[in-house]
Amino acid sequence: MKKYFIKVFGCAMNVADTERIAGWYEARGYRRTEKPREANEVVIVTCSVRQTAEDRVYGLINNLAKYKIPALPAGRQNTKYKIILTGCMLRYPLKYLKEKLPNVDEFVKISNFKFQNSNLHEHSSKVCALVPIMEGCNNFCSYCVVPYARGREVSRPFEEIVCEVEGLARRGYKEITLLGQNVNSYGKDFPPEEKRRFLNCFNDLNHCIKNLFATLLRTLHKIGGLEKISFLTSNPWDLDDNIIEAMALPKIDRYLHLPVQSGDDEILRKMNRHYTAEDYLKLVKKIRTKIPDIKIGTDIIVGFPGETEEQFQNTVQLCKKVGFVKAYVAMYSPRLQTAAYKLVDEISHKEKRRRWKILDDLINKNPAQNDKFLSYVR
Ligand code: SF4
Repeated sequence: MKKYFIKVFGCAMNVADTERIAGWYEARGYRRTEKPREANEVVIVTCSVRQTAEDRVYGLINNLAKYKIPALPAGRQNTKYKIILTGCMLRYPLKYLKEKLPNVDEFVKISNFKFQNSNLHEHSSKVCALVPIMEGCNNFCSYCVVPYARGREVSRPFEEIVCEVEGLARRGYKEITLLGQNVNSYGKDFPPEEKRRFLNCFNDLNHCIKNLFATLLRTLHKIGGLEKISFLTSNPWDLDDNIIEAMALPKIDRYLHLPVQSGDDEILRKMNRHYTAEDYLKLVKKIRTKIPDIKIGTDIIVGFPGETEEQFQNTVQLCKKVGFVKAYVAMYSPRLQTAAYKLVDEISHKEKRRRWKILDDLINKNPAQNDKFLSYVR
């Protein structure tokens, strides 16, 4: 029997991609192995969000190349494992990747592994299933590779998601996590007639016309057997009142991941984030008024080009005001293709590290605040 091995880097979206890739192999009669040397095909799901993530991929491929030796006796087919690269590093031109990674046999865009019903394959957790609801992003934050790596927003059909979650509940899953780079804009890309279809069901055209995320949450909330619905990731400027209303439903997770990135208005503008620190604080207040027991976590970038000490301190102040339960603090790393790549990355690694530590100590040093989301650290 043929075997496959998968190594994943990066975020929860990549973990979900890994599950559908596994489903693709299982459907073709392959069996998963945890030992790459036993495999006929080795798939690497890459992350490109920071240089360190890419460096780890280069290191792994160099190691795998050393063992690219016959795995079966001579004269039989499939004597070597194939190395297949997918994920966010495929944002680079193929020619560049082929030159940089001569030991990779195939480069496959993640979009080639189409969304498929996750009831057709196993999930890495037996309790909580990851359910992608959309892919890509239209926002072009100036530091981020996602729109280049994953393309523009494409939402999965509403009924397909509902059907999938009903199936998961029937199979005994109690928790689901809805995934997308910007789940709050789920359905924004649907044509108007498709959105209008929901008018009859929900009598709520105004809400539905903007996006369908709240409608999706309300619909999934009715599915018997499900006990908890979480979602990742939300954008502050797409999180509207209708979504906040839906978030107050009892089965919706009381943890909200709401990336702020900076607490300084000028840096936020340079990051192409469409809110000010004040807007963010007002949003947090509105959410807490509606859902008093909500816990909020965030993503922050320190050392963005031009960030002064005063601007960094604005971020520290915002963090103190919000009281995040956790934060994924990243040191800025310039990424090719992004708008910020043209800016001078003049802040030293040492200084970025100092700022990183201040925020990490402030937010993450209380272990009581940590929960399952730490397993999704990039
Ligand atoms: S919203 Fe998120 S995924 Fe989209 S460009 Fe900004 S940081 Fe990247």
